[in-house]
Amino acid sequence: MVIVMDRYSTPEQIDAVIEKVHGFGLDVHRSDGVEQTVLGVVGHGGKLAREEFLVMPGVTDVVKISSSYKLPSRTFQKDDTIVDVEGVLIGGPEVVVMAGPCSVESEEQINVSAAAVAASGGRILRGGAYKPRSSPSSFQGLGLDGLKLLRDAADRYGLKVVSEVMSTEQIETMLPYVDLFQVGARNMQNFTMLTELGKQRKPVLLKRGLSATIEEWLLSAEYLMAGGNMQVVLCERGIRSYDQQTRNIMDISSIPVVKHLSHLPIVADPSHATGIRDYVAPVARAAVAAGADGLMVEIHPNPEKALSDGPQSLYLDQFATLMRRCRIIATTLGRNIAPERDDGI
Ligand code: PEP
Ligand code: MN
Repeated sequence: MVIVMDRYSTPEQIDAVIEKVHGFGLDVHRSDGVEQTVLGVVGHGGKLAREEFLVMPGVTDVVKISSSYKLPSRTFQKDDTIVDVEGVLIGGPEVVVMAGPCSVESEEQINVSAAAVAASGGRILRGGAYKPRSSPSSFQGLGLDGLKLLRDAADRYGLKVVSEVMSTEQIETMLPYVDLFQVGARNMQNFTMLTELGKQRKPVLLKRGLSATIEEWLLSAEYLMAGGNMQVVLCERGIRSYDQQTRNIMDISSIPVVKHLSHLPIVADPSHATGIRDYVAPVARAAVAAGADGLMVEIHPNPEKALSDGPQSLYLDQFATLMRRCRIIATTLGRNIAPERDDGI
């Protein structure tokens, strides 16, 4: 809360306001400008009633500015959170790449994809087993069979697993197969599911909702953290706007904004943000340049045959190129992307 004093307020009136704030056990940050004095309440001012100060002599305005979310905020924790996905650290110096097909479709498809992810220095294999499709007649995912194929492929190539959870009932089923739960854009405000995931001690990748403000996104993170699950990674995947040239609009600026407001790591998903293969790599590079702690990229051994999101899925060789270029950018910024591997994969 900020209390703005009238330009003609007397020193006694200012002192009276400061004393009143102190009476609530809170401190005041005083700023004496040329025109007026502004008093910032330090600490949790939630219990202070705006009206109580507004009626005091010499006060001209009272503005409540304390953020509605607390646990994800920088004010609450100054140092960056590093999320540990079974040994892969997100939020530290490494820019962690998660890649794989939109959906797990077959054993061969996921194995070939996993090999490509590992060879290029990717660390986490993605693949949907439960798919949130806009149409009920679209492919809905392989379910438990898909999870098993995903886990096997990841283990074969030394990768971790991220996959989307769509309902509270799926949490239990997914636990043995995933290292990182993905909450999709459409479920960012599924508060019942967020509360349940908050009770888990497995990290969560929280995608930004299709039309969510950054504040709403951080409030959803608060749901997870309120349950004691502090291992939250945010994922910018583009937001809805009026232009039809891309599937969504990549909000690159949310990366520095989130870094400023929150201690949680943030990764970028250029695939859903653009929806078009040719635009994925440039946006991925921009995200790394803007300070993203990781990328989530859709790839497919045969995008024309993909059962979901084919037009935005990279060919495997395009992914290899993207990785090399992003590695150069990461290095320039004093970060790193895991090296390429040729250990028999
Ligand atoms: C996905 O990752 O395949 C997906 C459905 O993403 P989003 O929730 O961002 O649309
Ligand atoms: Mn997809």
